[in-house]
Amino acid sequence: MAKAELMDFDEAIEKYEVVIGLEVHVELNTNTKMFCGCANEFGEQPNTNVCPVCLGLPGALPVVNGKAVEYSIAIGLALNCSIAGDGRFARKNYFYPDLSKNFQTSQYDEPIAYEGQLEVPVASGKVYNVAIERAHMEEDAGKLSHVGGVGRIQGAEYSLVDFNRAGVPLVEIVTKPIFDSGAEAPELASAYVRQIREIVKAMDVSDARMERGNVRCDANVSLRPKGQQRLGTRTETKNVNSLRSVENAVRYEIQRQAAILAAGDEITQETRHWHEDKKYTSAGRPKSDADDYRYFPEPDLVPVQPTEELIEEIRTRLPENPASRRARLQQEWSLSDNEFRDIVNSDLLDEVDSTVSLGVSAQSAKKWWTGEIARIANLEGKEITELSVTPEDVAEIEKMISAGKLNDRLAREALSGVIAGEGSVAEVVSARGLEVVSDDGALTAAVDKALAEQPDVLEKIRAGKEQAAGAIIGSVMKEMRGQADAGRVRELILERAKS
Ligand code: ADP
Ligand code: MG
Ligand code: ZN
Repeated sequence: MAKAELMDFDEAIEKYEVVIGLEVHVELNTNTKMFCGCANEFGEQPNTNVCPVCLGLPGALPVVNGKAVEYSIAIGLALNCSIAGDGRFARKNYFYPDLSKNFQTSQYDEPIAYEGQLEVPVASGKVYNVAIERAHMEEDAGKLSHVGGVGRIQGAEYSLVDFNRAGVPLVEIVTKPIFDSGAEAPELASAYVRQIREIVKAMDVSDARMERGNVRCDANVSLRPKGQQRLGTRTETKNVNSLRSVENAVRYEIQRQAAILAAGDEITQETRHWHEDKKYTSAGRPKSDADDYRYFPEPDLVPVQPTEELIEEIRTRLPENPASRRARLQQEWSLSDNEFRDIVNSDLLDEVDSTVSLGVSAQSAKKWWTGEIARIANLEGKEITELSVTPEDVAEIEKMISAGKLNDRLAREALSGVIAGEGSVAEVVSARGLEVVSDDGALTAAVDKALAEQPDVLEKIRAGKEQAAGAIIGSVMKEMRGQADAGRVRELILERAKS
């Protein structure tokens, strides 16, 4: 499908008011599924973590996962929501091959959490107060793979279904319509999702890996002429699974809808799909506001009735809110806005924080994680979290640098050995023979050799040009494969020049 006609972004913002609404699905990392004892495990052989309940076989009876309820309450509290003391599950009836029950067990008019709000800062310094309508519990569906063609159902030869994901606990967080973000709407959308992700990660209620679909966003966008009261018709771009895609998809929809409205045409209310590779959305299915899911209270499950004590106990266990934590850390570390943003944008706050708690300076910790380690991850096409390097390794390397046992180049080599799985820092240093040589015997021999080869340099140093020593240090370093203690070499050269 071809890209649609787009209006220039600034022109679109000039002409129309943007309204967005975000639905974020968070997969919980409980050990078991929402209503049965099957393992909640990513990446297993297809259809191995299934049972009569999550397959929806006749007569199977579900039981609510208490942990999932606690995690949902925690999410609700972190989003400043009220928690329902009495909430029922509901059946959302529809047919799809990834839903063998023919209904999704969800919550409808009695969500576990409602009426919250989240402060979301953006780069301009503005802080948006995003109103949360509700956060409700539900179960995930199975996963379809379309084989042949390009992986989509259109043009595929056949489709496979894996029910391992069916029944995985989800919390869906829905915002109220967000007004007045204008040109910042795309950035706000991704900043909001980022913040939800940080919150659920900090609470350890989700693995929060977007690339695995642990956190996914449906982005609703509509435009209306400035001054118009009535909301414009929205589109809902489904299952956007990276922060960059959220931003791009919202921006694209604004431009696409603006071009349609400016031409005097109408927006079709529908779901859309974002194609990150080609950077456009394509139409999904038409969607009316009153899709007839025939919601009704789930008769096989008792209502969820958390006690005040339980809710308060969960509240006391909430970790520091990520936004305040960021503000605190930036201050403690005395980093500039830019330096700090570097860490946050590369998603390395936890790593740097742990490294600093092991006694490494914030500057050095930042340098290793956002520099060399990020570079290697990038080179290998991996996430940093997939590399086998820990804050302890980085701290060990820094300790050896301070002790003069490693210089910068050797430290980087030691690190790459650790990442290559050659063992601990100490093991790599010893196996690869990386320690800096500061033993005078070896160094003096190398210095004498270099001086003999470059007598003119020796003359210059003797004539008072101490900076000429650099050439000799260079030769000694080369001779000793970069492992000489440069400071000691310099001292030795100057001593020789005096004699
Ligand atoms: P649905 O069942 O269609 O997904 P939800 O209530 O779950 O409906 O979510 C709809 C989302 O879209 C909410 O975040 C809501 O605030 C937002 N929304 C509703 N109307 C509009 C609109 N006209 N423009 C933009 N966003 C909207
Ligand atoms: Mg929805
Ligand atoms: Zn099961």
